[in-house]
Order: sequence, then C-alpha cells, then structure tokens
Amino acid sequence: MSREEVISIIKSNSILPDSKFGQNFLCDDSVIEDIIEISGACPNSNVLEIGPGIGALTRQLCLMNKNNNSDMRIYSVEIDKRLASFLQDDEEISQYSKVICSDFLKLPQDLIDCSIDYILSNIPYYVMTSIIKKLIIDYPESKQMTLMIEDDAFARVDAKPSTKQYGPLSVFCSNYGIVRKEFVVDSSRFYPAPHTTSCVITLKKRIDSRIISPDYYDFVEAAFSKRRKTLQNSLNEYFARKTPSVSLSDALLALELDGRVRSEAVSPEQFVFLFCMLYQ
Ligand code: SAM
Repeated sequence: MSREEVISIIKSNSILPDSKFGQNFLCDDSVIEDIIEISGACPNSNVLEIGPGIGALTRQLCLMNKNNNSDMRIYSVEIDKRLASFLQDDEEISQYSKVICSDFLKLPQDLIDCSIDYILSNIPYYVMTSIIKKLIIDYPESKQMTLMIEDDAFARVDAKPSTKQYGPLSVFCSNYGIVRKEFVVDSSRFYPAPHTTSCVITLKKRIDSRIISPDYYDFVEAAFSKRRKTLQNSLNEYFARKTPSVSLSDALLALELDGRVRSEAVSPEQFVFLFCMLYQ
C-alpha cells in the first residue's frame, strides 16, 4: 500500500486518522511484505492481528490465503468502528478475515474459537504494555508474535537483569520467548508520520508457557513494586493477600539466591522457579 493509496482510501472514505487511537498507517509495500514474511504466518495457520487500521497487513494476509487456496483463519480486532466497518465492507478482506470491532484489551478470550498460531500487530503505542501482557496471557499457545513498537520502547521489552529498564514487561516477554529486534522503520513509512522511529520485533516462543497467567504477572509486578527494597520487602504485601506454601527465604535458598536479593537481580527463569516453588 503506497502513501498515495493510503491517502486516497482515507479521503474517499472520510476516515480522518484519530491520534487518540494511535492511528499511523503503514504506507510502504516493502515494509509490509517484510513483516508478513518474518511473521511465520503460513497457509492453514490461525492468525490474530490487533489494530488492522485500513488493512495494510490484513490485505496481504488475505492475498496469501487466496493465492494458496488455503484455509488460513485471520482474526482482526479493531477498536475504531469506522475502520472496522470499512474492512468489513471490503470483499477481498471480509471473505478471508473475520474483523471484530472491539477494544482488544476488553476482548473475551473465548471470542476467538480456535488456537492462535501467529500474532501480528503494528501496536498502538499508547497501550503497548497492556497489549503485550494480554497477548502473552491469553494466547500462550501461539508460536510467534511479530510486533511493531516504538524503537525507544525496545529497551524495556528486552532489558536484562540488573539494568534500569528491567521490569515486569521484560520478564514476561522473556518468559514467553526469544525476543529479537528485526529491523527499524523510519517514521516516513507511515501516514500520518508518528513522532518517533519504530521497529519490528519478534517474540518466538521457546518454553512451555503454561506458567504464564494473570496470577504470575501480579506476582512479578508486586516484586518490582519497590525497586530499591529487597525482594522479600517488596513481596510482603503480596504474601499477605496470597499465602505461599513455602517461605520466600527457603525458595531463595533452593535457588542459591541471597536472602537480601532485589527483584532487579532475579532473572526471568528464576521468577518462574520462585513462583512455582511458592504456589504450586
Ligand atoms: N495495522 C495498521 C497499519 O499497520 O497500517 C494500523 C496500525 S495503527 C499504528 C494502530 C491501529 O490499532 C489503529 O487502527 C487503531 O485504531 C487500532 N487500535 C488502537 N487501540 C486499539 C485497541 N485497544 N484495540 C484494538 N485496536 C486498537
């Protein structure tokens, strides 16, 4: 989809981009093709897209489905009614994709009645953390996520222990899979152009992610609630609400971690072990 095509679609359908929903539409065919190629989406897989906009990625996926005469199931969740109905009225898209008009953050997990293999999203940047968290919790069976995020935000997604950026988001992403920055996308590749540079990242699932649950996420968030304190002090309030089956000091000892360790020094794998020891 070229810049001219994007502008023409917007004008002829009176869809003025709404900044409150982070509407910056991709207008570069080579970036679109690269994203689809690395996404892993293939004939007969089930694909979930968050925020299809005017269909830059969706149209390519539908085309792949059509050209391969395959049974790829594509679910696209769009918050903006104008965009959702534009896509639903588009024969090429509606024939191959189910467009759901909803705030993804409020989408009931069971609304999608099959197991999702691949996830794609040019993420609305204002809700990046919440969307990634929900994707990981609701679709732990997925094989890969391919996401466009703000380039500056990548440091938080991929932060390593004992760094300033390390926190619940990096722990969670690492628990889900291998995080990789694939390529940087200049703001000129969007219409309208966002204020920041973007990048495309992949999260490839690597472990049995059954551990990932809202409870586990709360535990990790509580651990980071008082960054300057020890893990024990940060988790005291959490333990008052949810009594563990063994003491944290015993669990830390079993992991050969210092009893005065801070959350920022605990690795993503150690968080999983700790949670399992304390609650399973
Ligand atoms: N995928 C399109 C593209 O690459 O051109 C549009 C990307 S645009 C950055 C983000 C899209 O997400 C917009 O269409 C916006 O309306 C939609 N969106 C924003 N918040 C959303 C939410 N909470 N749930 C679902 N869609 C959302």
